[in-house]
Amino acid sequence: MKILAGKTAVVTGGSRGIGRAICLRLAAMGAMVYINYVSRPEAAKETKKMIEDAGDSATIIGFDIADAGQVESAFKQITAEAGSVDILVNNAGITRDGLIARMKESDWDAVLATNLKGAFLCAKAVSKTMMKKRWGRIVNITSVVGISGNAGQVNYAAAKAGMVGMAKSMAREYASRNITVNCVAPGYIMTEMTAALADDVQAKLKAEIPLGTLGTVEDIAGAVAYLVSDDGRYLTGQVLHVNGGMYM
Ligand code: NDP
Repeated sequence: MKILAGKTAVVTGGSRGIGRAICLRLAAMGAMVYINYVSRPEAAKETKKMIEDAGDSATIIGFDIADAGQVESAFKQITAEAGSVDILVNNAGITRDGLIARMKESDWDAVLATNLKGAFLCAKAVSKTMMKKRWGRIVNITSVVGISGNAGQVNYAAAKAGMVGMAKSMAREYASRNITVNCVAPGYIMTEMTAALADDVQAKLKAEIPLGTLGTVEDIAGAVAYLVSDDGRYLTGQVLHVNGGMYM
């Protein structure tokens, strides 16, 4: 059922991985989807084609979410074309892993700039039109690591924990305008990155997961679909953990 017909959704980092699955799902639900990317336009084109092959529609928009000027002009363009942004999925993220003793300041700055500041800039950019419309859905894709911590990821875990605090604060600011703000916290998800891991590393990961298997990108897309649909209308300021039980 096209329950999101007439709604516009922006998915940052929607060109591949988890973001692509979210774009496909929201488009299948009837939303007009804007697929964001920063460095690989060919992946965004592939996502758009997959959506169109399924009979739905999408637009590609390249911009760096960590750059305030680019974010402002991108959302101006989207609002001019589509009228408003109803759904924002802050999905784009990067890693620059390393133990803190050896982590460069630039690794900290890059991860915080993209994963946390980028989400802030995009949320700020959509806030005016969502408030005017008195309807909006914002979903931050955080990580189990933002809740549990992880050796070698102080920058990433700090940014992902920051997204949770940001979502809870925005949820309080926006609730009276019927705008919900939630997080989805994936555990280990099968993506290009995890597929490249050696068999013994994958086996070790699975051993940490009570449900005994890695998650799929569709598991995350399904959680986002729930939060932006009417079934999710009474949730705000929440973190939906989609991790096979690896963190409870
Ligand atoms: P990928 O590395 O597969 O894709 C990252 C996406 O983000 C790409 O579309 C990339 O665009 C985009 N991107 C990166 N930097 C920017 C930027 N500055 N501006 C705009 N877009 C940008 O990521 P995953 O699909 O694996 O992960 C998606 C989200 O889920 C991330 O936030 C990640 O932290 C989180 N997550 C992932 C888990 C996993 O197991 N995969 C587990 C827990 C959380 P381009 O290709 O053009 O560079």
